[in-house]
Amino acid sequence: MAGWQATDGPRYYRSPKLTGLPEVVHGFFTRQGGMSPGAYHSLNVSLAVGDDPGAVAENLRRMQQALGLSGLAGAAQVHGGRAAVITSPDQAREENIPEVDILVTTVPGLGLLIKQADCQAVVFYDPVNRVVANVHCGWRGQVHNILGETVRLLQARFGTRPGDLYAAVGPSLGPCCAEFKNFRREFPPALWTYQVRPTYFDLWRVSRDQLAAAGISPARLDLAGLCTRCGADDFYSYRRDRVTGRQGAVIALKA
Ligand SMILES: [Zn+2]
Repeated sequence: MAGWQATDGPRYYRSPKLTGLPEVVHGFFTRQGGMSPGAYHSLNVSLAVGDDPGAVAENLRRMQQALGLSGLAGAAQVHGGRAAVITSPDQAREENIPEVDILVTTVPGLGLLIKQADCQAVVFYDPVNRVVANVHCGWRGQVHNILGETVRLLQARFGTRPGDLYAAVGPSLGPCCAEFKNFRREFPPALWTYQVRPTYFDLWRVSRDQLAAAGISPARLDLAGLCTRCGADDFYSYRRDRVTGRQGAVIALKA
């Protein structure tokens, strides 16, 4: 989508719809601007893929600094539907967060980190109740509508009105590359209509439709439209490389 732009340092893209808002900061990081070697070159954020832990720690420090944050909270992601709601800073250390794919916080200055290589990271911001969320959304998450679940969680916990929410879908596997040979077994029939040519699916449109069905206004919804697999070599792609790193997506309330 026009208007998404990368910045210098650890390179990241920003949604134009979120960038102008005064109380929130976010970034969809590329793989550029870190210090991991070899297949993990260079801004890998995952300790689970075989990279040097010291390099990952430095990469995370650079990202935190680039966004002006006091901390980052990530989790072991498992393609499930569970959420961690962080309302105090001492809940934020990664080892304290169980296996979840939805991160939510009201703590200013704390960045929520989703790690991905082809899956979507989808960030949410409620400017009325001052709460942010970041969701790891792969095709399994789409099958159980994890984005709709996130909106319902925000409604139940914080009184969020869906029409107030901003949401942005980051760089991820595009319709050019999202091949699912076993889609009849893996997808419910409702998702078959997103087939754009035999065995290829538009997962960006799935997320857009699921977010719209949850009540998010098209005026507050943004899609990067950048494919991690076939775009310039800015992104880690598990489908393309198998042994590779994970890029980070971060959103936070400003301190
Ligand atoms: Zn592609």
